Amino acid sequence: MSQRVVIAGAGPTGLLLAAELRLAGVDTVVLERLPEPSGESRGLGLHVRSIEILNQRGLVPRFRTPETEVWPAMHFGLFWLKRPEGPKEDYTLAVPQWRTENALEGWATELGTEIRRGHELTGFTQDEDGVVVEVDGPDGPYRLDAAYLVGADGGHSRVRKLAGIGFPGSGSAFYGVLGDVVVKEGEKVDYSALLYPGGWMATVPIENGRKLRLMTTEFDQERPDNDVPVTDEELREAIKRVTGTAPDFEETTWLSRFGNSTRLADEYRSGRVLLAGDAAHVHYPIGGQGLNTGLQDAFNLGWKLAAAVQGRAPEGLLDSYEAERRPVGRRVCVNTQAQVSLLYPLEKITPLREIFGELVKFPEVNDFLLNLVTGVGTRYEFPLPEGAGEPHPLLGLLAPDVELATAEGSVSLPSLLHAGRGLLIRFTDAPLDTGGWNDRIDTVTAAPHPELDAAALLVRPDGHIAAATDDPDALHHALTTWFGTPSTDGGAR
Ligand SMILES: Cc1cc2nc3c(=O)[nH]c(=O)nc-3n(C[C@H](O)[C@H](O)[C@H](O)COP(=O)(O)OP(=O)(O)OC[C@H]3O[C@@H](n4cnc5c(N)ncnc54)[C@H](O)[C@@H]3O)c2cc1C
Repeated sequence: MSQRVVIAGAGPTGLLLAAELRLAGVDTVVLERLPEPSGESRGLGLHVRSIEILNQRGLVPRFRTPETEVWPAMHFGLFWLKRPEGPKEDYTLAVPQWRTENALEGWATELGTEIRRGHELTGFTQDEDGVVVEVDGPDGPYRLDAAYLVGADGGHSRVRKLAGIGFPGSGSAFYGVLGDVVVKEGEKVDYSALLYPGGWMATVPIENGRKLRLMTTEFDQERPDNDVPVTDEELREAIKRVTGTAPDFEETTWLSRFGNSTRLADEYRSGRVLLAGDAAHVHYPIGGQGLNTGLQDAFNLGWKLAAAVQGRAPEGLLDSYEAERRPVGRRVCVNTQAQVSLLYPLEKITPLREIFGELVKFPEVNDFLLNLVTGVGTRYEFPLPEGAGEPHPLLGLLAPDVELATAEGSVSLPSLLHAGRGLLIRFTDAPLDTGGWNDRIDTVTAAPHPELDAAALLVRPDGHIAAATDDPDALHHALTTWFGTPSTDGGAR
């Protein structure tokens, strides 16, 4: 049986997944139908939750360059939200999608991923032993055996359609135009997003200097046919219709239209075929959540799929991908639809906006919405042993970026996850250890930390806290749930 994973699609989701699989030593091939990277800036906002997971692999410097702009604010339906106090200058970075793909491709390739550009997945068959993938490459059609196939092939996913997985939801009811433009030398460009009677308009600096994204949404304007190319003129006219003012820019580097189609895959898995990213969920691009959700899907799936391929996955591990990530995809669909309901039609929703504007001033409401749109509020429901009582407040959350005091000195918690393995952090001398799981889990002993109120924490390779306990039986339960049975040789590495 093949031990290979084939991923269709070298977008952000497919590339991060490929790298995570390679980190665990899995033979991984990415098929990408385009012969060259598209170079489009599409997904522009890298939110704090994505930055946190990239930090767990030591990758943030690849994304944050001296040119990177920091988004000054986040919004929900154009209600501006306050960020937490503290040194969170990396809360949301403006990283054009081509740069994200470039950085992820670099990492995936360094780890040994084979990326085949100009190779389109055209079909597949699967049985209980594996998948046979049909590919149309530059030298003609061929077949590729795999243990698993992942469709990270975007909103129109061929993999999803061929797997017969439904994609219910709503089609586009309105549309917008976006353009990456270059403004005149010396012109000062600030981040803004403003609501008007017929739509809204956002201006987002892309990189230091003169390049920015202009993006309109119009609720009552008929969308041109897809085969009509988007032009500078269309962008200028759309901006003028929405804002009443003619825009001033020198040239455009990319133009596109987008809609508000909102769909969620019925299943994220069909046998040996899985879906991730836009292949599993699409929605209106408000607040820049699409790319981020795809990255977080990939991070959740990578270590689980690696364990399944390598025959060490406990029962249910691979299915926990859908159980954990589909509710997140659904929530993104719901929150983007809710934001649209706060934008239009203005004459009807103005009273609602007045009240909502007052609500957002309550810190709890502010934080709730901020957590929703940045993904920071994501907490997975984890199984507990029978009679375990109330779950620990840290259970299911992402381990925070804190410094741990160890015998070897101070070390940041995320840096202990760079290898993509499980992690046990012991804060006491209690007899809590990973025994027969040492081949899958690293252990560190640290001084107690005020943010981590537990005798020991078990952290999954994706950074989520799988146990926070002083009870060896509870730790044993979590180790078995997430990492399988202990090795008979004592887990020697
Ligand atoms: C116009 C536009 C503007 C957007 N703006 C934003 C934004 O501001 N912020 C944000 O967060 N998101 C935005 N998005 C959404 C964001 O781009 C997506 O959420 C993100 O690209 C999803 O990544 P992905 O890897 O899942 O899919 P994709 O990036 O779509 O990648 C899928 C890849 O699969 C390849 N592929 C497709 N079929 C096959 C096949 N059969 N065989 C092999 N390869 C195949 C495609 O060529 C593509 O490279 C925007 C999207 C669009 C279209």
